[in-house]
Amino acid sequence: MKKWIAMILAGAMALSLAACGGSGSAADTKEEAAEETAEAAEETAEEETAETEETVDAVAQIQANGKIIMVTNAEFEPFEYKDGDTIVGIDPTIAAKIAEKLGVELEIQDIAFDSCIPALSSNKADFCAAGMSVTEDRKKNVDFTEPYFTTQQVIIVPVDSEIAARADLNGKVVGVQLGTTGDLYVTNEDGAHDIAVADVSRYPKGVDAVSDLLAGRVDAVVIDQFPAEKLVAQNPDKIKILDETLTTEKEVEEYAIAVPKGSNLVDVINEVITELKDSGELDEILASYNQ
Ligand code: GLN
Repeated sequence: MKKWIAMILAGAMALSLAACGGSGSAADTKEEAAEETAEAAEETAEEETAETEETVDAVAQIQANGKIIMVTNAEFEPFEYKDGDTIVGIDPTIAAKIAEKLGVELEIQDIAFDSCIPALSSNKADFCAAGMSVTEDRKKNVDFTEPYFTTQQVIIVPVDSEIAARADLNGKVVGVQLGTTGDLYVTNEDGAHDIAVADVSRYPKGVDAVSDLLAGRVDAVVIDQFPAEKLVAQNPDKIKILDETLTTEKEVEEYAIAVPKGSNLVDVINEVITELKDSGELDEILASYNQ
């Protein structure tokens, strides 16, 4: 790159020298040469930007901005939820460690869960921490860090429900949170699973699905284990989690943090996750939300 500029400058100088010896006005030609040099430098700069987009030195950009932007959907206690105006939970706690490592301020934006990956693809955010399960499909659009948690999809039913096992979901109306792995599982578009529900009701928030369950508008709700426990704890006399999970042992899901494709932020976050795991701090964070 430096070599490039040197070559351009040398070329421009040669041009202007030649111009001095020629018939045209030296001043004019010098100006032209200067313009050409500027243009060439501009082109080089453009090329460099294009290169940066491929390798994406996101870390340098974040540090230059002094701020890192996380997107999440703060409707997923204990991973992210609102305490007054503040977004708190396991993911914001991990995110604070990431910001600390980079020495920058953390900004958390609360958006719909199914908008998180598009926000990364369009570079509106630096990372998404949203209790997001790693899937092959999502990997096409974002890069994932090392996992930091595992979960099953569980089934919530009214305490007096006739649904006692996962197979009983066949022919039933099931509520899910829009765009989640629970949604994909029961929708079963590719026929990968052995459950055939009658209908799927999709909600932006798990808590809305549970409201409809309490109101008898859906027969069951499918959601991740830890949030399910929090939701049931609000109405323990009315709803319960079935012992049998929806996902089988082989279908355990892993939570990871997502970054835009090619972002070198993934290395920094992996370091943070490894440090939190090795020091036992991750277990402490998880345990502090498990009450
Ligand atoms: N783990 C689920 C998924 O990745 C749900 C995440 C969420 O609702 N925040 O789809």
